[in-house]
Amino acid sequence: VALSRPRSIEALPDTLISQIAAGEVVERPASVVRELLDNALDAGASEIQLRLMAGGVRQILIEDDGCGIAAQDLPRAIQRHATSKIRSLHDLESVLTMGFRGEALAAIASVAALRIITRTQGASTAFMLDAASGEIEPAARAVGTSVEVKELFFSTPARRKFLKSEATELAHCVEALRRHALARPDVGFALWHEGKLQHQWRSAEGRSQHGDLDTEDEQRMVEVSATALERRLADVMGPEFMAQSVPVDYSEGGVRVFGRAGMPTHSRARADQQYCFVNGRFVREKTIAHAARSAYEDVLHGQRQPVYVLYVEIDPALVDVNVHPTKIEVRFREGRLVHAAVRHAVQQALAPSSAQVAAAASA
Ligand code: ADP
Ligand code: MG
Repeated sequence: VALSRPRSIEALPDTLISQIAAGEVVERPASVVRELLDNALDAGASEIQLRLMAGGVRQILIEDDGCGIAAQDLPRAIQRHATSKIRSLHDLESVLTMGFRGEALAAIASVAALRIITRTQGASTAFMLDAASGEIEPAARAVGTSVEVKELFFSTPARRKFLKSEATELAHCVEALRRHALARPDVGFALWHEGKLQHQWRSAEGRSQHGDLDTEDEQRMVEVSATALERRLADVMGPEFMAQSVPVDYSEGGVRVFGRAGMPTHSRARADQQYCFVNGRFVREKTIAHAARSAYEDVLHGQRQPVYVLYVEIDPALVDVNVHPTKIEVRFREGRLVHAAVRHAVQQALAPSSAQVAAAASA
């Protein structure tokens, strides 16, 4: 409906600006989980615990053992466009932290009840911030941060209507956790739903502390980060994937590609088990997806989709991560270099099993 007469132009109130912006960042509980996991990792956490109620709609509680937030910074943590992660355009051009927009906590606070309890090293106590009242008071916890998000979209019923069943929302939260767990095998993750432990993926360090290593030899092995990665891949992707995939490790043109590629026999009807990480960030990126699929063109027929977990490491100055509010899309300055590296990496990894497929076909 067009306006018949011009109406006065007014600046939007701050809360409404946040609610509009929140639409881009916070779509469902899993988006909140993703942002909070990003923050915990950026804070240098080595153990992260996630507790959900009702698929994350009623409550999301995340606890980390990261660096915490200084009391005097707490009010700014929930302020829009306030961040500790970048200071200048120059910083943005080679950013390695997950966050940098300073939007997530402000967005979450505008569509849910948000409380932060945090403590820094050397502080005499922890502090709690209630986003609704803005009040800060002393609290108790060890060094690190707890963020509690309750009643998502309680103030925006129109958005709440778009939420799916509890089981579906939980599945999306688990998927967000899987992506972070795959991205960071050096960090321990655990997820409880309605008080029940659903997933626990320990770090190499967490394992040795919990004594589930068989031999001293094995203990020494987990020091090697490649082994930590294999273990995490096994934990998150499952034994079948490990048995039906081959290791990838390849460099070309300044691009390193590693991880595991599923053998052609392990393909799926849908592209739902394809994980790509660029400099530790989970992404959906057409160049990588196309390159990976093209590596299978001779061995995987029709509409079948490969399964893979690929890590791409490249000079951060050659990647633009500031393309999309959720940062799930990235843009490469040298897309062709990345395409060639990924394609060749997967082709080389598959070469022995491809030869088998070819032999079986000609037999
Ligand atoms: P961004 O991550 O883009 O900086 P956020 O809104 O997600 O923006 O967070 C705002 C700020 O709050 C961060 O820059 C960081 O300084 C602080 N912060 C948020 N979560 C944590 C956490 N778990 N541990 C330590 N600091 C945090
Ligand atoms: Mg953030």
